[in-house]
Amino acid sequence: MNIFINKVHFPVTVLGPGRRIGIWMQGCSIGCKGCVSRDTWPRDEGKAMGVDDLLAWCREMGANGLDGVTISGGEPFDQPAALEALLRGLAHWRQQRRLTFDILSYSGYPLATLRTRHAALLSRLDAVIAEPYVDALPSDHPWCGSSNQKLVALSARGKQVYASRPGSNAPAGKRIQALVDGERVWYVGIPSRGDMERLEELCRARGVEFSQVSWRS
Ligand code: SF4
Repeated sequence: MNIFINKVHFPVTVLGPGRRIGIWMQGCSIGCKGCVSRDTWPRDEGKAMGVDDLLAWCREMGANGLDGVTISGGEPFDQPAALEALLRGLAHWRQQRRLTFDILSYSGYPLATLRTRHAALLSRLDAVIAEPYVDALPSDHPWCGSSNQKLVALSARGKQVYASRPGSNAPAGKRIQALVDGERVWYVGIPSRGDMERLEELCRARGVEFSQVSWRS
């Protein structure tokens, strides 16, 4: 089973509590206005990899401990069969090794749509942050892009990890991780409105021009 992946990273510390594996899926059919991850939209055949290979990478990264796995994109639920295989494999690993990490997924689909069309996938998650990104609705929540998006705990583990108040164990304010990969600089996290433009200006003032960015087409 293949899965289309934009990127993976460990540790991610800005998309859920603790040190997490981050998995960004490639391909999104939703197209929210103001999306800062437009590079994840096309279904790129060159970004296919085996789910088994991805799970092997997760086991390697998490060998010394991890707090969670965050699945984002792109739109994870646009690849339901691959997402199912990934979630099944993560659950198997967790159970086999008696690990306690939680699994959180983002989705741009309304929660009601996910409950109708993908109840089986939701049952394999500990928490979800659903609903499309709405540029006109800023959010202070460190893990949500807009205020219509809510963190919903789906399992007993999810309720325990995310407590009664979603985000109660989150650091205050939004944070971004910046990473350098060869000639590419990429960020992880949910920026506040205007952060990416400010970052671009600061870099330009220091002589660094971005030739291509993910937050404009
Ligand atoms: S915010 Fe998420 S769901 Fe919306 S277009 Fe961007 S990647 Fe797709």
